[in-house]
Amino acid sequence: MQRISTERARINKQQNQLFLSLANNSLIGIGVIKNDRFVFSNRHLAQMTGYERQELIALPDVQQILPDFYTELERFPEDCNEKLIETKLLHYSGKRIDIELCLLRTRFDGDDAIVVFVLDNTARKNNERNAQLAALVYENSTEAIVVTDESGVIVGVNPAFVEITGYQLSEVIGRTMNLLASGRQSPAFYKKMWRQLKKTGRWRGDIWNRRKNGEEYAERLNISTCYNEDGTVFRRIGLFFDVTQDKEREQQIWRQANHDHLTGLPNRQLFQGRLQKAMQDADERNKAFALIFLDLDLFKDVNDTLGHNVGDQLLKEASKRLLSCVRDTDTVARIGGDEFTVIVSDVPNQAVVERICEEILVKIAQPYQLGENVATVSASIGVTMYPEDASDAGEILKNADMAMYAAKECGRNQYCFFLPAMSEAIQARILFSQNLQTAIAENQFILYYQPIIDMRTGQVRKFEALIRWDHPELGLVPPSEYIPFAEDSGLIVDIGQWVFKAAVQQAKRWHEQGLNYQISVNVSPAQFYADGIKVEEWVRLLEDAGLPTSSILIEITERLLLEENPAITKRLRQLREAGLQIALDDFGTGFSSLTYLKRYPIDYLKIDQSFVRNLAPESEDLALCEAMIVMAQKLGLGVIAEGVEGPLQQSLLLEAGCVLGQGYLYSRPVPPQEIERWLDERKALPTNTSSSNDQRMAGQLLQDT
Ligand code: C2E
Ligand code: CA
Ligand code: CA
Repeated sequence: MQRISTERARINKQQNQLFLSLANNSLIGIGVIKNDRFVFSNRHLAQMTGYERQELIALPDVQQILPDFYTELERFPEDCNEKLIETKLLHYSGKRIDIELCLLRTRFDGDDAIVVFVLDNTARKNNERNAQLAALVYENSTEAIVVTDESGVIVGVNPAFVEITGYQLSEVIGRTMNLLASGRQSPAFYKKMWRQLKKTGRWRGDIWNRRKNGEEYAERLNISTCYNEDGTVFRRIGLFFDVTQDKEREQQIWRQANHDHLTGLPNRQLFQGRLQKAMQDADERNKAFALIFLDLDLFKDVNDTLGHNVGDQLLKEASKRLLSCVRDTDTVARIGGDEFTVIVSDVPNQAVVERICEEILVKIAQPYQLGENVATVSASIGVTMYPEDASDAGEILKNADMAMYAAKECGRNQYCFFLPAMSEAIQARILFSQNLQTAIAENQFILYYQPIIDMRTGQVRKFEALIRWDHPELGLVPPSEYIPFAEDSGLIVDIGQWVFKAAVQQAKRWHEQGLNYQISVNVSPAQFYADGIKVEEWVRLLEDAGLPTSSILIEITERLLLEENPAITKRLRQLREAGLQIALDDFGTGFSSLTYLKRYPIDYLKIDQSFVRNLAPESEDLALCEAMIVMAQKLGLGVIAEGVEGPLQQSLLLEAGCVLGQGYLYSRPVPPQEIERWLDERKALPTNTSSSNDQRMAGQLLQDT
């Protein structure tokens, strides 16, 4: 018996020693509780609690360390040996620490005791909490999350992904992200992205993708990588949100900055960029392109007569027509009020561009139905070729602009290719068209006069006033070179006003000398459109000068009557009612129609010089002249033949019944002093020989010029 108990004691001692050595080297906190007090604590448990081992053992109650100990003990049935719970440990500092507690019934030094194993649970709890949080974020994030394996196959997506893309989880698991590709991103884009991902594990940027319903959307994507311990890729995580609206707003802002708000066409700024690009492309691919510069003729008249709203409508319609003449890949831009440019790329030869220009001219000239109004305009087009004509963007545009001016000068409604010789001549003219403004103020205009003769007697009947610009550097400039610009810029109103006043002054001077020659004054259609026909003022000017209103004959052109504009008819009637006479100039060159002649208040027809120039017996021109003369006579209108240069023309015209003629045969247009010099001479002569005097004067004037 004694031996058994000694043996037992020995075994117990051995066990205790084993326990102690295990306990003291364990990474788990271990303690032995007997009668609610610690009788043993290993080093680790002491560390976990913040007490010294001795202090721990000296504690009167384990509750100070394990606040739930008794509650747990009550729930620990007698017949059960072991219990595992999660609870808190109260640290010396007062901090509560999450622990896993294992209670074990045992005997210690012959008494019932409980061994506690304490495992710090903080890290695991934290991890758990983090995982919960992550799951919460994953589920509730408005940012889409997609997780793929190392080869890009989707292994998970969150609800926001489903919401943004429209694909259900089941539809995407096992597929790759290619599923969303919109095709907007180039292969090079993806290549670059993968290169960076492989190198750094991260990528961020914006991508255009496609939702399940086919709609394209922009996402701001942030990809990161999760690695295995051996450095291979475990997962890639993509986070993205929908930035379509931002992109659209950005694009709208860009569009507003780069496009013309009225027509939606690229504006001057974007055009400059496209021009640079066209040059680059042409250089790289060894191709040519054409730049077309287009200006609407007399567009100002539409604005002035019908208002800016109608003008805007016309511009919109014109831009549509322009677009319809070129390919989608060509650029049509609006670079100024009524100025457009077209970049036609990949042009094999000039003939292609010519065809486009012809089509543009035809389409632009079609009537425009603008609400209740119908308007017509035409286009003047300049074309330049790259790289043939220039190598610099500024120069290219300047060339096209110059060619456009040339087209305007040639009579509008046509196209002109740039020629190197243009530059100097036209630049000079562009410059002086800018000087037009000062020309009036500086008194640089003069009226020349050309007599209109009774061809039967040689008597002077009227004078036509023809404007000249005495330019300080260029000398006398003929009207054809600046009237079109004056019309386009609206300066024609001031010029017209000046011409009328100067003509009245001249008529007054002659009147004071007892010579009552009617003076005919040219009036541009643009003056009518811009409300530049000042009937009352003109009548007052004549009255103030003491002249009958019939002293002035107003020359208008057929172009004016084409419009069938009631406002124009009204002005013509007012002029007529005030006593001024009206002549239809350049008759036969326009869309002459008998109906105009009957409908409008007209006194004279002036047969255009193109019919008179080549008059010969039995010629077609003679037949036409005869027809015009007969028609005028039937309608009770006077006829004046322009451009009579030789005696043959004179006699043919007389035979056909035309009495009044004007042309170099009698005199070129000359300044008033020359006519006045002659008039003075004439005064000194006996009055009964007026007819031969007139002829003498005519001859003299011819010699003078
Ligand atoms: P237009 O009214 O038809 O004027 C006749 C033009 O023919 C004048 O040219 C005149 O010099 C020219 N001419 C006269 N006789 C002959 C001839 O026998 N042979 C030839 N080959 N030509 C002859 P100009 O002075 O250069 O004027 C050109 C045009 O400029 C005028 O054509 C007219 O439309 C316009 N113009 C002239 N003065 C004014 C003006 O004060 N106001 C406006 N709005 N236009 C004007
Ligand atoms: Ca005339
Ligand atoms: Ca004429």
